[in-house]
Amino acid sequence: MIDWNKIETVLFDMDGTLLDLHYDNYFWLQHLPQRYATLKGWTETQSRDFLLDKIRAQHGTLNFYCIDYWSDELGVDIVEMKHQIKNRIQFLPHAETLLAEIKALPIQSLIVTNAHRKTLAVKDSKINISSYVDNVCASHDFGLPKEDPEFWQHFADKFSFDPNTTVFVDDNEAVLDSAAKFGIRHLVMPLNPDSQRPAQLMRQPECYTGIESLQQIIPD
Ligand SMILES: [Mg+2]
Repeated sequence: MIDWNKIETVLFDMDGTLLDLHYDNYFWLQHLPQRYATLKGWTETQSRDFLLDKIRAQHGTLNFYCIDYWSDELGVDIVEMKHQIKNRIQFLPHAETLLAEIKALPIQSLIVTNAHRKTLAVKDSKINISSYVDNVCASHDFGLPKEDPEFWQHFADKFSFDPNTTVFVDDNEAVLDSAAKFGIRHLVMPLNPDSQRPAQLMRQPECYTGIESLQQIIPD
């Protein structure tokens, strides 16, 4: 599927690609609505509807991923709430093996994430994901989400890599579109980002290589 002998750099998205999106989905769809309902004296349904409207309005923007934005907007400590359920943070199947096999090769590896660095710190406190790669780029550092093609120019200015010999793995099709526009050649889309939602009807992407499992791209 990927000829790793011809690859010099691999870029991994974090949530839904290496880490189980269950944690994030559980946080935004269960834990936060429950806690917010208690704070406001609302029913859980009222709270969830209110929050989902707000979250949907920020979809695809940096605010959507910004812990400071949500803490201010909602008047709650999102980081503390994220720590409360950090026992749910886990790798997706085969992610650790994939990362270990890549590390043994002469390939530059980076995590490129829309997650806020405070969210990254919560995840590192549980599984130290940063230690599995050579470097971590958080799109907040450039003030642009990965969905914005301009993000990739900033990324290329900071990190040296050849788009022709680079693999990028990301479960977000809009992000892959943006990376494709920039010229990154090998684009892979994991189709099972959340282990608790195995039956979701993820369609095979038209332009990218869809994978059911990270096992499919582990180097031989
Ligand atoms: Mg993702």
